[in-house]
Amino acid sequence: MREVKQRLARHESPKAKNTPYAGASAHFLGNHSPFPPRRPCYPSRMAGPLLSFTDRGLYCAAGDFFIDPWRPVERALVTHGHSDHARWGHGAYLATEQALPVIRHRLGEIRAEGIAYGTARRIGDVEVSFHPAGHVPGSAQIRLEHKGEVWVVSGDYKLEADGLSEPFEPIRCHTFISECTFGLPLFRWAPQQEVANQIAEWWAANRAEGKTSILAAYGLGKAQRLMSMLPALGPILTHGAVEETTRILRDQGYAIPPTIRVTAGVDAKSHPGALVIAPPSALGTPWARRFAPSDEAFASGWMALRGIRRRRGYGTGFVISDHADWPALNTAIRETGASRVFVTHGYTAPFRRWLEEQGYEAGIVQTEFGGDEAEPSEVEAQE
Ligand SMILES: [Zn+2]
Ligand SMILES: [Zn+2]
Repeated sequence: MREVKQRLARHESPKAKNTPYAGASAHFLGNHSPFPPRRPCYPSRMAGPLLSFTDRGLYCAAGDFFIDPWRPVERALVTHGHSDHARWGHGAYLATEQALPVIRHRLGEIRAEGIAYGTARRIGDVEVSFHPAGHVPGSAQIRLEHKGEVWVVSGDYKLEADGLSEPFEPIRCHTFISECTFGLPLFRWAPQQEVANQIAEWWAANRAEGKTSILAAYGLGKAQRLMSMLPALGPILTHGAVEETTRILRDQGYAIPPTIRVTAGVDAKSHPGALVIAPPSALGTPWARRFAPSDEAFASGWMALRGIRRRRGYGTGFVISDHADWPALNTAIRETGASRVFVTHGYTAPFRRWLEEQGYEAGIVQTEFGGDEAEPSEVEAQE
């Protein structure tokens, strides 16, 4: 680990240099290239691009593996356990030791290996290492090095430390593949403590009125983050889907307060004034009605868009995301020192244009899925 860190520290800013293969970006994206080659593509001393975009996902030919592929492949490196990244059917999985228990739980019998953060591993001709992405517990950015060329695939990430996830570490690289789920200037998150206070006030007010507070949140990461950031105003009840992941993470040693799984007999009478944490799809269902009278809310970055909140009928929305907001995306990209950035998830077209205006060589990587924090309607459709 120290060895990797030292090398990273020595790694000079590639931004000052010319990109050694000016035409390679068009090649990287194949027919999907969003930009025509401006110059002829000269053969380079360097091998082709370290990652290529295929219909199964990001592929590294020098190491013969994929990163977060969405169709079955022989060997998959997986950034984290969300279903748009950790998919079923691969021959072998490599993920962080911290991400693996949830991935195994979700995918069942798989051939998988865990790797410690910051440990270098040689796969084929490529040196691979996983580094904290701060997105959810166990989440990683994946760093690839081949003949002095360094690429980093961010996976999903956020910069604010949430108290549970291993905090994001900037990794220097020549080419950075960044998510941009919230890649518009209007997305700016308040500090976590501020949102925690808002949610606590809402919970306390509901309690005072004899109501149950039902808070919808994604089951891996957001749900546990909410539990751990809120004051203990009363019992926390969980939907089965949330409880499973919570139990696994708690068993791993993540500091998550006690929760009670909602089973027969667990309702508003047995646990007055409780906070219930459930997946978004549980809102407004018979399952939720056992807690009447109740007040429902959704905790998501999308709650920043009033239109979505209204259209979906969420009375209360708390703006909190496990993805980087606009300033954080820009900070993260700057700190990599990369001269070339490919964006994926969310507002890719405007964000790519913005990066080009800032002087980056920029492109888009298309994925098959909208992401774990896609618009709420899409998320529910996937469940
Ligand atoms: Zn994710
Ligand atoms: Zn995602």
